Amino acid sequence: MADPEMQQPWLLARPEVDLDRVRRHATEHFGLGGEYRELGSQQDRNYLVSAESGAGALLKIHHPVVTGEIVSLQAAVAERYRDAGLATPALLRTSDGDISVPITLPDGREAQMCAFALVDGSTLADLEAVDGAAAEHLGGFVGRAVDALRNLDHPSADREIQWELTLAPRVVAELLHELPGDRRDACLAAARRAAAHLEALDDLPRQIIHGDLTADNIMRDSSGVSWIIDLGDVAQSWRIAELAVLVADIMGRTGDLTIACRAVRGFSQQVAEAGFALTDDELDALWPLVVLRGAVLAVSGWSQLRIDPANDYARERIEHEWQVFSRTAGLAHDDVVAQLRLAAGRAHRRGLEYAPILTEQRSARVIDLGIRSADLDRGRWTSPSIETDLAREALAAAPVAVMRFGESRLTRVSTDVSAPAPTKARCVDLWSRPGVSVHAPFSGVLTRVGEIIELTDGGVTLRFDGLEADAAGIDVPDQGRPVSSGAVIGRIAERVPGLGRLRMLRRAMGAAPDPAFGAAGDEYAVAGAADPSPILGVPACPDPILRLREERRRRDRAMGGAAERYYAEPPQIERGWGAILIDTEGRAYLDMVNNVTAIGHAHPRLADAVGRQLHLLNTNSRFLYEAYADFTERLLAHAPDPTLDTVIPVNSGSEAVDLAIRLAQAATGRRDVIAALEGYHGWTMAADSVSTSAYDNPSALDSRPDWVHLVDAPNAYRGPHRGAGAGAAYARQVADRAAQLAEAGHGPAAFICEPVLGNAGGVIPPEGYLAGAYAAVREHGGLAIADEVQVGYGRLGAAFWGSEMQGVVPDIIAVAKAAGNAYPIGAVITRRDIVDALRRDGMFFSSAAGAPASAVAGATVIDVIVDEGLQENALLVGAVFAERIEELAARHPLIGAVHGSGLYRGIELVRDRESLEPAVEETAWICERLLDFGVIVQPASERQNVLKVKPPMTFGLRDVDVFVAAFEAVLTELGKRERRSLGEGFEEAL
Ligand code: PMP
Repeated sequence: MADPEMQQPWLLARPEVDLDRVRRHATEHFGLGGEYRELGSQQDRNYLVSAESGAGALLKIHHPVVTGEIVSLQAAVAERYRDAGLATPALLRTSDGDISVPITLPDGREAQMCAFALVDGSTLADLEAVDGAAAEHLGGFVGRAVDALRNLDHPSADREIQWELTLAPRVVAELLHELPGDRRDACLAAARRAAAHLEALDDLPRQIIHGDLTADNIMRDSSGVSWIIDLGDVAQSWRIAELAVLVADIMGRTGDLTIACRAVRGFSQQVAEAGFALTDDELDALWPLVVLRGAVLAVSGWSQLRIDPANDYARERIEHEWQVFSRTAGLAHDDVVAQLRLAAGRAHRRGLEYAPILTEQRSARVIDLGIRSADLDRGRWTSPSIETDLAREALAAAPVAVMRFGESRLTRVSTDVSAPAPTKARCVDLWSRPGVSVHAPFSGVLTRVGEIIELTDGGVTLRFDGLEADAAGIDVPDQGRPVSSGAVIGRIAERVPGLGRLRMLRRAMGAAPDPAFGAAGDEYAVAGAADPSPILGVPACPDPILRLREERRRRDRAMGGAAERYYAEPPQIERGWGAILIDTEGRAYLDMVNNVTAIGHAHPRLADAVGRQLHLLNTNSRFLYEAYADFTERLLAHAPDPTLDTVIPVNSGSEAVDLAIRLAQAATGRRDVIAALEGYHGWTMAADSVSTSAYDNPSALDSRPDWVHLVDAPNAYRGPHRGAGAGAAYARQVADRAAQLAEAGHGPAAFICEPVLGNAGGVIPPEGYLAGAYAAVREHGGLAIADEVQVGYGRLGAAFWGSEMQGVVPDIIAVAKAAGNAYPIGAVITRRDIVDALRRDGMFFSSAAGAPASAVAGATVIDVIVDEGLQENALLVGAVFAERIEELAARHPLIGAVHGSGLYRGIELVRDRESLEPAVEETAWICERLLDFGVIVQPASERQNVLKVKPPMTFGLRDVDVFVAAFEAVLTELGKRERRSLGEGFEEAL
């Protein structure tokens, strides 16, 4: 019997191999000993080699039809990808420096053996479901891959392989009999129809392509880099076939043409950036090729199983492959082509040019309603009439104004975070004067659907909302009437006095109409609401989800693993207002953690003051300018005692603490510092040395320098001393340690502690602690440093400073965070004699510390705190907050305590109120879950079981209501969840 592989070059079974031989050969040529595990393949043999030493590799025995020249073709393609910045696994070299080596198979044939470096990642197919944003990203990626191979020539690129789509009609015809009988007719008919469409097209651009760029052949590594793998189907083909393969794959996975259209959009935009565009013929060829790809997959899967029945990989894929076919073959060709053309930014029919809907549309002005729009600063976006106000302003300068498709409109963001509003525009708004004539952009059938008028042609339906047909004497019957392109179909109705708004939506292929606005997190385009922008000739907005994912990858790539960030899947926050944060999707959150932003986000007074100063001057702080003294004087006016008469500005809390320690050491001429455990004081060497929070530094206790001496954190809730007398007991530790140091001949330079234990979640030290500790350290000649970086600046309500609340006066105070409302400024407040001691050692200077813009920020923040009564607000709202949480605690035993004062609070969560076992996983879960309720809160303390509550000091009573409602809902849900997951372990349920 003749060898089937000779008759049909596409029927290739995996070669039989002798694994021992393979291993010997690979060891000899590639140095790849170790363990071999076979991976799936249609036609080759792939092995994952775990090397005895080193990184391991992927070893491939190609099918014997793959010659050394074809391996060199693949290498040339890989090189082009790399040159274009697209990652692809490195081909390992043999000991002779070759990229492949022949191996003789048991049947006497020769096959090429290659080895690749392993990629540490997963295929996109395993990582994520393909949604619209993912599809658009993939489309763009495939566009880059096509661009990378433009004009590549290779003598072996003309390959007769079954996956090369120009051969698809032949492959299907020859392998059709392999399909089960009930599938044959459908497959043949669809393939014939598709082939007939292709025959009408000639001269489709050709080039070398990958040929199988699907979610199975793109991997993502842990730093977010995408890798192209498996170059086995590389061949000269039609350029458009590369996109067709991806679209077919997406259709197979989702069955959703809108998602597939997003891939076309991504591809078209990418190639346009690269300087070329798909031709009309390519756009006509795309869908037939998608159908043919489905048909090839269908017939190949079955034939592969016949010639290689043991191929489990092929068996597992059969249903997915059939799905690719069945989900594409039934759709109406012309209607689909119209959608694909629109996705590519072209008119839905070849040769069609859209007539302007409004005569003066070409000079339309785009109104930016996006989250970052400068037109919406100063809280203007919160005004209910803002959209019409902006339209009116735009129409003063242009005849038509446009609000775009896909934009998450800041104007529609709900300031009530518990009731997010739909913000994502799935429509285009065209604003003009009432009575302006509206024209049909294309010929079609005009129908009335209630208040709306629809124009339909070939699967494309445009909906006009705000159009009065009767006003132009047009009768639109329910059963429809034909109109020609450019014909007047009505006039713009008046929406508000003097203004008309035509709201345009597009329905795809008979889908039901969708609301004009989607919620945050919703798909950008859905089946019912596709993008009408190409018909209107206006730009659409980029999908915010796409940008968000790219931002997450960018941040991961740039910062690496050591940089902290909130949330597993963080929202992209681009605007704030008061205590609200807004992400790029148009979702608002209540900011419960931002003690840095003391006076609230985007405070116009601060923005104006700093902006103005940046227009004037910003320079290093050695010059003489007004702002420096303005800031330092204002800060001194708030100093807890007149003896504290000197301020040195710095850039951050870490610097403030560092300088405080240095000042103490200089003033006392000593080194040793006593610090309370569990504190966090900053990242510089000195600040870090006195930081022992196990969360920030798990090995802190073993790595303290010899000049640091630790005492217990004065935590009377869960520390060693509780109840009456705890303050004195903790203070005694400080006294004992100071005495020991003095006896040893090196008394303490300082004692440092937060006056309210910020890191522990706002735990207030027990009565008498600070007074006792300060007295003890001073008795032995040391100084008292108060780290007020977190708790100072009025947030505690009852006092401006934590130390003030405790009735003590430190020698040195470190401040930052609130000082600049997240503008980088901090300060040390101390006595003149202490600073003078440092002068004896040399001068202090830090270039940007107290620079004009920073100093202006610092002065303005203090002014705002005073003028807006924010400390008083903190006292009032904080008291109500604590009361409400105490009420919740009566119903929810998880709440162990509410620590703190004013708007510096910690809600400590425990599994048991006796043992105080920290509810760590519950706290993490609650924080993640509260995000869904629009509340941003984070775990604190070294046990990570305390909810930090330190919102902007503008936090109001209404915000308290929102938080308490959300928290209660989440606690209740957690209670149910715990019961449900009893027995299977709570952690697993998280
Ligand atoms: N001290 C305390 C109490 C802090 O909480 C922090 C920051 N979390 C710092 C100092 C360090 O401040 P920065 O991050 O501005 O350097």
